[in-house]
Amino acid sequence: MMVIDIHLHIGHVFQWTEKAVKLWMDTGDYRKRIFDKNGYLVIDEYVKTLNEEGVSAGIVLPEYSPLTAGVLPVEEAVKFQEKFPEFVAFGAVNPNVHLDPLNEFKRQLVLGVKGLKIHSVHGLFFVNDKKLYPVYAFCEENKIPVMMHAGTSIFPGTKLKHADPYTFDEIAADFPDLTLILCHAGRGFWYHIAEFLIRRHKNVYIDVSGLPPKNLLKYYPNLEKLSNKFLFGTDFPGVPGVKKNIEAIKSLNISEDAKENIFYKNAKKILKFWD
Ligand SMILES: [Zn+2]
Repeated sequence: MMVIDIHLHIGHVFQWTEKAVKLWMDTGDYRKRIFDKNGYLVIDEYVKTLNEEGVSAGIVLPEYSPLTAGVLPVEEAVKFQEKFPEFVAFGAVNPNVHLDPLNEFKRQLVLGVKGLKIHSVHGLFFVNDKKLYPVYAFCEENKIPVMMHAGTSIFPGTKLKHADPYTFDEIAADFPDLTLILCHAGRGFWYHIAEFLIRRHKNVYIDVSGLPPKNLLKYYPNLEKLSNKFLFGTDFPGVPGVKKNIEAIKSLNISEDAKENIFYKNAKKILKFWD
């Protein structure tokens, strides 16, 4: 079965904060395989590692969170896409970093990004910050998908308030035609609200990255019925094992059709990058 991992992080080791490397990246043993001895990410090794684990396509995510995770520039994400077009680059904006988020996102589009990632929890802002509204309106109008980190984070300095579920609902309500993917949706304490949001809003989806797959049915009891709303992702390289996660989802008590939806069919249908 084809596997598309829509939640992959990029950046050289030294672009992440030390705490991010320690708390997150080293949850797996990928560091020695995908970076060289100076901490530079080796794109060929990164892709080879993912291929060996069963992932053949995906989305690579930059991030601008200088106070928590680090600054992982969009230019690094674009390099992936140039070499391996099946690994699609997204852009990222943070209203605390970019004085004019829409202008910055337009610059990133020129570089070649095909979507947008918003990380309010690491970036220390709210997704419904009015400075981001022109960006959402632009993405809605131009059919550009938006991913949002929608749950807690283990990084010191992050605050629960920036993962308030009602702020995500507000974006879905104010931009009904925007394709919106909630990453690790509800992680921590609001899985039931996340499930409600994908029922309530036609264009809202959940990516299951950063969640122990064996618990998915506990978090989202209607996973089978809502399988057209879930997409596979891992949070690589900060994941104990990509292949292990794939195997864990394959052994969940849901239909083959539901598994196909989650692993690749929804990603192809909703994001349209891999025809
Ligand atoms: Zn992530």
